[in-house]
Amino acid sequence: MALRFYNTLSQQVEDFTPARDNTVRMYTCGPTVYDFAHIGNFRTFTFIDLLRKCLRLNGFQLRHVMNITDVDDKIIRNAVARHTPLAEYTTVYTDAFLEDCRVLRLERPEILARATDHIQEMALAIAKLSESGHTYTSEGSVYFKIASFPGYGKLSHNDFSGNIAGARVDVDSYEKADARDFALWKAPKDAEPFWDTALGPGRPGWHIECSVMAIQYLGETLDIHAGGVDLVFPHHENEIAQSESLTGQPFARFWLHAEFLMVEGQKMSKSLGNYYTLRDIIGKGYAPEAIRYLLASVPYRKQLNFTFDGLKAAAIAIDRLRNFKLRLETDRFPEGVNEAGNARLAEAGQAFRDSLNDDLNTAEALAAVFEYIRDANSAMDAGLFLAGNAAAALQFLAEFDCVFDVLKPSVKEGELSDAEVEARIAERTAAKKARNFALADQIRDQLLAQGIILEDTKSGIRWKRK
Ligand SMILES: [Zn+2]
Repeated sequence: MALRFYNTLSQQVEDFTPARDNTVRMYTCGPTVYDFAHIGNFRTFTFIDLLRKCLRLNGFQLRHVMNITDVDDKIIRNAVARHTPLAEYTTVYTDAFLEDCRVLRLERPEILARATDHIQEMALAIAKLSESGHTYTSEGSVYFKIASFPGYGKLSHNDFSGNIAGARVDVDSYEKADARDFALWKAPKDAEPFWDTALGPGRPGWHIECSVMAIQYLGETLDIHAGGVDLVFPHHENEIAQSESLTGQPFARFWLHAEFLMVEGQKMSKSLGNYYTLRDIIGKGYAPEAIRYLLASVPYRKQLNFTFDGLKAAAIAIDRLRNFKLRLETDRFPEGVNEAGNARLAEAGQAFRDSLNDDLNTAEALAAVFEYIRDANSAMDAGLFLAGNAAAALQFLAEFDCVFDVLKPSVKEGELSDAEVEARIAERTAAKKARNFALADQIRDQLLAQGIILEDTKSGIRWKRK
């Protein structure tokens, strides 16, 4: 099956290929670094990571830009309240975000673009929009005139024709689906930080940063623009209005949006006490790969209900996968190749790839993997799984893990790393060779105390974490 996505712009599922040279030019809206990111944010970022991996599985190259919003209303409010310079304040949360991404095994985009590194380019773009009659100025701030862009509303599929021209909004985020002229450039207020530019002193609005950085790094028309569904209006609608007014070209061919995350069936909110950062969940003792699995397991266009039972079930699913892999690596199967078994595997592999290509249907893809594992385990128990079937089965698990990335256990603080375990095993092997069995046993016991189980097999030592 060819790769296809639901496109918010057309409201259709469409076949996807990049416009040119096999490279997908993709822009995704990154974090606003005013606090630790919460698990709702990471639902979207995990979707982006799966999207990257599926694009690569289809043989495409990636040129992916993600912004770091390090200046906006909330950041300024918080930094001023703490008497901390803006850059110092945002560095803490940028670093925390990147560390959280590493823990959750989210690949780093090819280009991370910080808004404050592109202020002059934003000022130039705003000046260009002013020259072509898309803006007006009021008290030093510059607003985008939405009446100047006839396509306004085409992404969110709202009809804004009845709106009063000239009503305007100063804040970066506004929720009501009624359109307002929005701020491209904000004049400095009180003690707020500002930049000196060709437009005079001030700072950019949130929406203009994505348009400018996307076009700068990816060109006038992107293959994919993606983000959370909460960004469709106004943020992405405003990005389209600015970008297409600047270039006269379509801004993005495909718009992909991940649905909301609920917690235990309720909207996540601080007042309900069900608001969690990634760090909160890990602090409760859950493995990052279980969180990753749960976030990945629900197709991105469905609401995801994040529950602690769901996390426990994710950990059990991962155990099944790991045990199957270990069995493939360590069991002694009868010689030969079972052709029916290989045909069953090929069918599972096809179902796995087809499901992912079908607008990232991760639930179906996982079902294909687990149905195969169930069948293969039965074949093993019946003596029908042969030595010649193992390599291809391991290859399938590797392909699965290229996308889902949950097989390797995370190293917890204070735990031995894989390399440290391997080094201790090498010491133990040397001790046995030197007939120092006391030392060999001692190393085995020490490793066991740290949750590492050794298994002596004919093909050497295998180990796993408890
Ligand atoms: Zn954006």
